Amino acid sequence: MRHGMSRSTLTAWAIMWGLAAGSGDGSAQVIRAGPPTCKAMALTFDMCPVREGTGYDAELVDMLMTKRIPATFFLSGRWMATHEAEVRALRDVPFFELGTHGQAHAHLPRLDADRQRNEIAPPITLLETKYGRRAPLFRPPYGEYDDSTVEIVRALRLRFILWDVVSGDPDPRLSRARMVERLTATVRNGSMIVFHANGKGLHTREVVEDLYQDLALKRGLQPVTVTDLLDHCEQRTNH
Ligand SMILES: [Zn+2]
Repeated sequence: MRHGMSRSTLTAWAIMWGLAAGSGDGSAQVIRAGPPTCKAMALTFDMCPVREGTGYDAELVDMLMTKRIPATFFLSGRWMATHEAEVRALRDVPFFELGTHGQAHAHLPRLDADRQRNEIAPPITLLETKYGRRAPLFRPPYGEYDDSTVEIVRALRLRFILWDVVSGDPDPRLSRARMVERLTATVRNGSMIVFHANGKGLHTREVVEDLYQDLALKRGLQPVTVTDLLDHCEQRTNH
């Protein structure tokens, strides 16, 4: 549900990087950021399943739509099962991109390859069959994976997307000001920042608004979708 950040954010950050770094041969295909020459950033929002609350940060999504801020959403299957209208709403915004985030938010390295495939594939199939949308990006729950995960994602012809910057937005002890301070110091050209849009982010909308002010409008670090960050940066920055 969270990205392991409920205790000390910094400690959890170190743990996540440790997991990512120690995960074997496939790491060359695991993408954490865009090119450092790209004066842009990707704001990414995970839709992990929730047990309480609406599971949808409508104020955040409305703000992104009103300000026309491109964003990428990683949808879990369980979240989609209870948010049909929201899936359609996100799908229909032309500057939003959709990826998937597993069916039940499982710890993938604890599963064998068959069970991993059964965890990864259903939300992709559901988006295609029910919503008519191929989602070309995958982000593993908790950022956890092993060689089987990488192989399955490759076979499904998806891009394996992690992040290089953690917002820490579900952490109740992180104030808006502290998050903004940390993020403005950490985000660089090509960064992919992980947030939540499932209502678990306590200050997410305000922080994204502040970042948009400080990074996009003042520093010229434009928010783009993950695919645009990876594939279309040259065209975008050369004009
Ligand atoms: Zn998640």
